[in-house]
Amino acid sequence: MDKLEKNKFTEDYIENLQRITLKNFDDTSEKDKYDALCDTIMERINQEWRFSKNKSRYERTAYYFSAEFLIGRSLGNNLINLGIYDQVKDLLDELGIDFEAIEDYEDDAALGNGGLGRLAACFMDSAATQDINMYGYGVRYREGLFKQSFENGFQVEKGDSWIKDGDGWSIRVDSDSRIVKFKDQQVKAVPFDMPVVGYKNGKVNTLRLWQAEPFEEFEFERFNNFEYDAAVAKKNRAEDITRVLYPNDIQRAGRLLRLKQQYFFVSASIQDLVAKYKRYFSDDLRFKNFHKYHVIQLNDTHPNIAIAELIRVLVDENGLEFEEALDIAKKVFAFTNHTVLQEALEKWPIDIVEEVSPRCLEIIYKINDMLVKSFKEKGLTETEIDPYRIVIYDQVHMANLAIYVGFSVNGVAALHTEILKDDTFSHWYKIFPNKFNNKTNGITPRRWLVYANRPLSSFITEKLGNDNWKYNLDELKALEKFVDDESTLNELWNIKQVNKNRLASYILEHEGIKINPESIFDIQVKRIHEYKRQHLNVLHIIYLYHQLKKNPYMDFYPTTFIFGGKAAPGYFRAKGIIKLANEVARVVNNDPDVNKKLKVVFVENFRVSYGEKIYPAADVSEQISTAGKEASGTGNMKFMLNGAPTLGTLDGANIEIFDHAGEENNYRFGATVEQLNEIESSYNPRGIYQTNKDIKDAVDALVNGELDDNNSYMFLDIYNELINPQDGSRADRYFVLKDFQDYKNAHEKINKDYRDKLEWSRKCLMNIANAGYFSSDRTIIDYADDIWKIDSPNY
Ligand SMILES: *Cc1c(COP(=O)(O)O)cnc(C)c1O
Repeated sequence: MDKLEKNKFTEDYIENLQRITLKNFDDTSEKDKYDALCDTIMERINQEWRFSKNKSRYERTAYYFSAEFLIGRSLGNNLINLGIYDQVKDLLDELGIDFEAIEDYEDDAALGNGGLGRLAACFMDSAATQDINMYGYGVRYREGLFKQSFENGFQVEKGDSWIKDGDGWSIRVDSDSRIVKFKDQQVKAVPFDMPVVGYKNGKVNTLRLWQAEPFEEFEFERFNNFEYDAAVAKKNRAEDITRVLYPNDIQRAGRLLRLKQQYFFVSASIQDLVAKYKRYFSDDLRFKNFHKYHVIQLNDTHPNIAIAELIRVLVDENGLEFEEALDIAKKVFAFTNHTVLQEALEKWPIDIVEEVSPRCLEIIYKINDMLVKSFKEKGLTETEIDPYRIVIYDQVHMANLAIYVGFSVNGVAALHTEILKDDTFSHWYKIFPNKFNNKTNGITPRRWLVYANRPLSSFITEKLGNDNWKYNLDELKALEKFVDDESTLNELWNIKQVNKNRLASYILEHEGIKINPESIFDIQVKRIHEYKRQHLNVLHIIYLYHQLKKNPYMDFYPTTFIFGGKAAPGYFRAKGIIKLANEVARVVNNDPDVNKKLKVVFVENFRVSYGEKIYPAADVSEQISTAGKEASGTGNMKFMLNGAPTLGTLDGANIEIFDHAGEENNYRFGATVEQLNEIESSYNPRGIYQTNKDIKDAVDALVNGELDDNNSYMFLDIYNELINPQDGSRADRYFVLKDFQDYKNAHEKINKDYRDKLEWSRKCLMNIANAGYFSSDRTIIDYADDIWKIDSPNY
């Protein structure tokens, strides 16, 4: 912004502020000031947004269907991408407004659980920045992911009505409302469009989120007859559909309402695409060119019923033959798988599918018949066909539907895609090898570095002499020339210290715990799940505590272990792990024998906006999942980009992080997938427990009275899982005890290495310099080139 424009911005801002509040500037609240800023920015975006929408109308476009978009806050990110962050901050400063204070009035849009939803949000940012036409389509949950607090160390969940005070970043587009028909209910789907601003390139893509509403607010007839409950019942039943995000990460929720949510947003979206196509290509009555303009990426199995819905709309509402419609679907859909854990692969009982959309069930049966017919022609027997069936044992297999119909199936990291091909979907890989491809996940450097880590961002720009790295992250590689430059390495150390100080103050203010900002910040933040093994981390802290108690003068560099993350409300053992970490924190932090050297903090309500403070402040990135279980991980990339070495297993994208940044700059530990597969059948965790005294002491602390779970039996449950086989499955399903010793050794090495400041900073620098590959810009360009062929003249 030049000087003149600056005055205009200030003028517009003050005008908006007074207009929306009907108050004089001095009488407005901080929330008013936030709202007005939002307004002013939306005005600025508007013209380019309309232009981008119009332009994409006649161009091939990707549609990213996802039940989750974990957006977080938009204010700071939009200012960064518009290229006016610093100027606006200064302008507000001149008006006596503290930007950071008003920023806090924005609630996170937490319309997702974890990595899968955050990936969708990063992809939106990257597609806009790389000038790729991409619409996001999803659900406007009125209640996002629950707010987490701790009472007595136990997780307590509260609602997250993120839009109760308004939502300045969405525009309600009533004129594009659609009707969604369920078996016994019809509702209105109202789209709310959010702008997705590309980084300083004038591109503004759209995230369209659907909200369910009744046709009429309520039935006046009934209201007048004092039948108040009945009058609002219908309204509630409609609104129920998009009332709340299911809080299960990984674990599927086999509930009728959940499938209704999925069908709701997918049906509205498909109708939207078809209606627009008919408007702009009115001569193509048989949709011969539909696939030239549309490719739909299915983010996991959640939106897969879109396949049946597209066929339904084309056949029932537009007169196409079933085969014609199926052929179109085969050219339009591509599928991304996000996990190999069995509990995640969606299978819907046919009666639930029937309850939601009998016609879609019928179409699914028809597709299944085609599959069986064509596989018989290939010479397969009935039983050989079983694993491919879309409908079997009265269940609909959503992955099979997408793999059969879709033209592309991708995993989200190299190892994960190999496991899909060799194991999870090996039968499909045999028949359709060409459908399978890998797209290693990424993260947007704008939110996770430029915005979240201002000091590091300025440092990089200064070192590289320009800021092209912000949209071409491979340019970070040039930082390698500073690996032996002492003053650069010292600067980097000091930047980390600034971020650690900031996090320490934030933690003091919000968690009430004082931590030593000069200790090693060893951080594990992510959803709580057994496969992610937060309990391995906690057991190791118990071990350290025992060592320090025995020998308070032990040579140990002060370390603060920081945890963050939510457990699904119904996941008892994950909640037990939270209680355990909090209990260890209570014991350790209150023990004067150790608390100068060892501290443990579990931050409440970890979410995107908390992550923006945490990732930049880490010295060690804990990525310790059981090998083969974490499909990719993206938290690992955020830490890497902000200069924290990874302490990790050979799992997901960790492997690629080690490859790019060098194993010598990170801390790899633990068994490989192959090793685990090999010992699987003979694994004896109790043997390890009995022979390794350190492990035994740590595990026994769960049940010998050292730690108190307030009679919840949560610690006994974890204890049993680790060493006692239970209902048919062996003990320690995630090989915690197997990897313990190796994990402990890696920690010892870190505790020594950290003391050599220069050598440590060198590792940090090498991680930053080699993070280019993990930009979601690279990922989205790979999707656009290999799967969507978005710029191909052949379409
Ligand atoms: C990045 C992110 C995740 C994913 O973290 P992983 O370590 O990859 O599981 C989850 N939640 C939030 C809020 C995130 O920002």
